[in-house]
Amino acid sequence: MRIVILGGGFGGLNSALWLGEKLQDSHHEVILISDKPEFLFRPSLIWVPFGSRKIDDISFPLSSTLEKAGVQFILNKVEQIFPKDKKVVLQDQTTLDFDFLVIATSGFPDYESIDGLKGNTSSIYHREDSLKTKERIESLKSGEPIVIGISQGNPGPSIAYEFLFEMDAFLKQNKIESLITFFTYEEELLDLSAEKASKRLEKHMEEKEILYYCNVTLEKVDEEKIYLSNGKSIPYSFSLILPMYRGADYIFNSNHIEHENGLIIVNHHLQSIKWDNIYAVGDAILIKDMPMLKNGRAAELEGHIAAKNIYSQLQGEPPKEEYQDSLLGLMELGTDGGMFMVKYPTSKLASSFFEWASDGAIPHLMKIAYEKYYMWKLS
Ligand SMILES: Cc1cc2nc3c(=O)[nH]c(=O)nc-3n(C[C@H](O)[C@H](O)[C@H](O)COP(=O)(O)OP(=O)(O)OC[C@H]3O[C@@H](n4cnc5c(N)ncnc54)[C@H](O)[C@@H]3O)c2cc1C
Repeated sequence: MRIVILGGGFGGLNSALWLGEKLQDSHHEVILISDKPEFLFRPSLIWVPFGSRKIDDISFPLSSTLEKAGVQFILNKVEQIFPKDKKVVLQDQTTLDFDFLVIATSGFPDYESIDGLKGNTSSIYHREDSLKTKERIESLKSGEPIVIGISQGNPGPSIAYEFLFEMDAFLKQNKIESLITFFTYEEELLDLSAEKASKRLEKHMEEKEILYYCNVTLEKVDEEKIYLSNGKSIPYSFSLILPMYRGADYIFNSNHIEHENGLIIVNHHLQSIKWDNIYAVGDAILIKDMPMLKNGRAAELEGHIAAKNIYSQLQGEPPKEEYQDSLLGLMELGTDGGMFMVKYPTSKLASSFFEWASDGAIPHLMKIAYEKYYMWKLS
């Protein structure tokens, strides 16, 4: 049997390594296809615009890691999938047959979902945008108003909080006097996280005198102002706004795969709701009855679940592993160190949770240590 994994990030690489090691001495074949030759530790993109990390510090080549695990690597871009014929078409027009498929090509910021947002916001989602944002930040001058925000439907809000606090620290270090305004669609600051985290964030915002609005939607953006549902129109010279996600372009070119805005709809086993040999993991997915925070840890867990379920199917058994949402997060707080957040369901129905948050220098050091450990473990 041939298992093909699309995407060499958190979800795809972890699926591939698990299956590669498990199936090393078998007649099964594991192939990973990615459009980039490296794995990129995207959580550390938060530091790239402020000069404390270079892209080379937070990436490593996929080929040697995959080779050690017995996984074949193909550097190419996926253009289309044919679920019924079990084929993947690549950019160079070659096709590849599969028996099982794991889609792990992530979600992409859907800037077109908000009127005027495209072209009027900076981004730190990928390597190229982080480097472009770095150039823009290096030219910031006192008096330029800054808006940082999270628009409705964004599934990874902590990225905006980290950027906000790093920006505040950068302005202070460089003696740039600019007003920052923050907004979010969340009812309270980071409200899908631990309850204590919201309270601590409120305290940090007040101490840093950052003006913020919760529970607002972003109505439109033009070259000078952003317009919120509470009637405020806020002038900006620099903005970083997180939108909802959409799936990779090739999903829109592929027929017969159930998706919403390109995000693959899966069940709790992470199987496509239409095809039981197609799995999807990470930022690329949607589970209809489960509100999920998208992050690297979730993508890694999901990558392992999909791999284990495929392994069960190879043994002639049904998939057994199910995904349950939980949070174990480390977030930067600029001059105040970092924050460690935990939110774990205490019942299978996720009706009650164990919640905890702590901030200061130790979570910041833990975040750095985790980056180093992850890079060492996988490279
Ligand atoms: C600034 C920032 C800070 C973050 N901070 C944290 C954090 O502190 N903690 C945390 O857990 N998460 C954090 N995240 C989120 C985390 O990085 C993502 O949730 C995670 O990368 C999603 O994993 P994935 O496997 O779905 O996608 P990715 O890791 O993005 O991998 C997608 C892969 O698919 C490949 N690909 C895409 N399209 C194609 C195609 N058409 N053909 C072939 N290959 C393709 C890409 O090259 C890539 O290899 C942060 C993200 C950002 C941007």
